[in-house]
Amino acid sequence: MEGCVLCPRLCGADRGAAAGICGMPDIITAAAAFPHFWEEPCISGTGGSGAVFFSGCPLGCVFCQNEKISRGRFGKPLSGEGLMRVFDRLLEQGAHNLNLVSPTPYAEILARVLEQYRSPVPVIYNCGGYERVETLRRLEGLVDIWLPDIKFFDSAVSAKYAGAPDYFEAASSAVLEMQRQQGTLVLGRDGLAVKGLLIRHLVLPGNLAQTGKILRWVSENLPRETFVSLMSQYTPCGTAALGLPLSRQLSAREYRIAKEMFARFGFVNGYVQDPASAGSECVPAFRLEGLEETI
Ligand code: SF4
Repeated sequence: MEGCVLCPRLCGADRGAAAGICGMPDIITAAAAFPHFWEEPCISGTGGSGAVFFSGCPLGCVFCQNEKISRGRFGKPLSGEGLMRVFDRLLEQGAHNLNLVSPTPYAEILARVLEQYRSPVPVIYNCGGYERVETLRRLEGLVDIWLPDIKFFDSAVSAKYAGAPDYFEAASSAVLEMQRQQGTLVLGRDGLAVKGLLIRHLVLPGNLAQTGKILRWVSENLPRETFVSLMSQYTPCGTAALGLPLSRQLSAREYRIAKEMFARFGFVNGYVQDPASAGSECVPAFRLEGLEETI
């Protein structure tokens, strides 16, 4: 049988025998599941977003805030039935949606689970943007809200910060496929997201040129109504904490310039933040919460 080619790494690992570049076997592994209140207002609402944090990641961002699970492989194996029980519990807790965080290494298993589960609330695919179009097509009709990052534009920058020189090539194709599937983000009368695309971009200190190029690309390739969340909460984590320019938080001046770009490119929908609210308090601890009784 062909090895794993779910993400642009195309590493071809036989995940039943050995982990691939993402570090994960071919069984769903998750580190926490709980109603999450730190997402955008249309995602978290008042009841929270039903986040399931999956372990492992095909990217290798030097500033990853979730290093314990992305590279540390911390997590608990779950069967498909176990994951459905986790979904049930999140809905019982009042979550507005099911938010699959870093789902890429499990895309095929998740497609089978979602075909069976038929969620009564929107399903969110919350990813780093480093996706294969073929994998996204497997999820067509099963994901309601696509929530990708666009992190980097230049190949040299994505190679340096994430070990992925092909990042933008992959992310731009993925975002266009997400737009084709579900279109521009649609909000219900209650202000909650129902379906569509919401792009996130974390502004990195000392890297405003990336922000400008990404916003320009979005403005030139997607509808004017596209929702973009311009995030200011960069916090030095992992190996990024060791070297400039990523060893500091984003300055208020840098974020002001990013917001000026956002306005200049004519976006009419999206979210900007107050840099003063940035910090590590929104980084989950990951203690297998919400997974205690599940196998
Ligand atoms: S998901 Fe993991 S195993 Fe599959 S191609 Fe990507 S890095 Fe390799």
